[in-house]
Amino acid sequence: MVKTINVYNPYDGTIVETIPESTLEDVDRAIEKAEKGKKIMAEMSLFERSEILRKTAEIIEKNKEDFASTLVKEVGKTIKEARIEVRRAVEIFKLASEEAKRIHGETLPFDSIPNGEKRVGYFIRVPVGIIAAITPFNVPLVLASHKIAPAIAGGNSIVFKPSTITPLADIKLAKALIEAGLPEEAINVVVGPGSTVGNAIVKDPRIRMISFTGSKDVGMEILKNAGLKKISLELGSNSALILSKNGDISSAVSATIKGGYAVAGQVCISVQRVFVQKEIYDEYLEKLIEGVRNIKVGDPMKEDTDMGPVISEESAKRIEEWIKEAVDMGAKVVFGGKREKTLFEPTVVINVPTEAKLFSKEVFGPVVVVNSFNKLSEAIEMANNSEYGLQAGIFTNDIEEAFYAIKKLEVGGVMINDAPSYRADFMPYGGVKGSGIGREGVKYALEEMTEIKTVCFNLR
Ligand code: NAD
Repeated sequence: MVKTINVYNPYDGTIVETIPESTLEDVDRAIEKAEKGKKIMAEMSLFERSEILRKTAEIIEKNKEDFASTLVKEVGKTIKEARIEVRRAVEIFKLASEEAKRIHGETLPFDSIPNGEKRVGYFIRVPVGIIAAITPFNVPLVLASHKIAPAIAGGNSIVFKPSTITPLADIKLAKALIEAGLPEEAINVVVGPGSTVGNAIVKDPRIRMISFTGSKDVGMEILKNAGLKKISLELGSNSALILSKNGDISSAVSATIKGGYAVAGQVCISVQRVFVQKEIYDEYLEKLIEGVRNIKVGDPMKEDTDMGPVISEESAKRIEEWIKEAVDMGAKVVFGGKREKTLFEPTVVINVPTEAKLFSKEVFGPVVVVNSFNKLSEAIEMANNSEYGLQAGIFTNDIEEAFYAIKKLEVGGVMINDAPSYRADFMPYGGVKGSGIGREGVKYALEEMTEIKTVCFNLR
């Protein structure tokens, strides 16, 4: 009997769609087909790749409301958030269409070394082969686009395993790619549990690169199982926002609200830990609570809803437990903290000890922890006191403080006068420490998704 996967709406628990679950035989067939796709892609001109990417952007744009409502139903993000996600996917494909035309090598100065006078050469960039894209539930369309678009630009064939929780917009994306002219051998979607289907993909030697976005634990598991392959890991974080007494309080409050509660806090660069200088701590906290009070929580399909549910009741219960643990350790909930099934109140917690999970782990829910500091060096030390290092933000109008923070923060990106959650899709993006290996952002992913082949003529 064919096993199936029910995709649930996290807001009301209804089944959105039931799809077949891929088997291990399906994985093998998908990789075999991707091998054929590899040969076809290797012969495809840069112009053709660029055109497919441009047309994909057009098709997503044409179907934007369908993509957006699918994201609302399967992720539970609000329709406003879903529309932004679809717009970003369109932009990523346009960017990749442009970048495909800019793939180039370099000439190499062989005569710069003794006895190199009679040699000339260069390097070119060639496809890696088959790339596996494995993605999480929270921003399914954009995170898949960040892998698939540069993979195609680089001339690769793809095996794609979206999250089993939110596979529907991603299946539509695969259809859009084929409609845009991508040979169907080059995009192979399998949907099934990570422990079986995901693991079989990771272990298969025919796959030459794994591009993974998801949790640190799964990232570590993949590293263990992958063998000799290129690996890109975009993992989690418990990102910090620092507000100096020289920074603008109102801007920092808006950034905290935007960065802390978008997609109910289920974003890898969500604002989780805020550090505010003592002199302005009370004013910041008062304004933050005032702002959080105005966040409208509810039906994500309604145009005026600001925040939808978290992905599952299990996740909501875990967040609740983490808050309780922090409170038992001396923390205080100053706003929110309660839930109704998957709908969690936007929550602000103060005095959280650094040992509490709410501080030290990735909460992946609508909870912001606010602590105070005396000197900036203390705030940076606390921000760095983390197994993660994805992005950080600092609000200050003092240029010396800004440069000090840029130097000292152990992260992949520092946002000055903005939340750590700021991301432009063209910029290099990724983490240090437990937040991952490698960089995405179309141009940078494309570099990782090609191999350098060196050529040297011996003219003697
Ligand atoms: P997850 O790690 O549970 O799952 C991610 C994907 O990996 C899913 O498709 C899953 O089926 C698959 N998987 C699970 N076990 C596997 C295995 N052993 N081998 C191969 N694949 C396996 O993540 P999630 O709960 O869906 O998403 C939340 C996490 O993703 C958070 O930690 C978040 O920070 C992270 N994330 C990171 C970024 C980033 O860009 N750095 C962006 C979004 C989300």
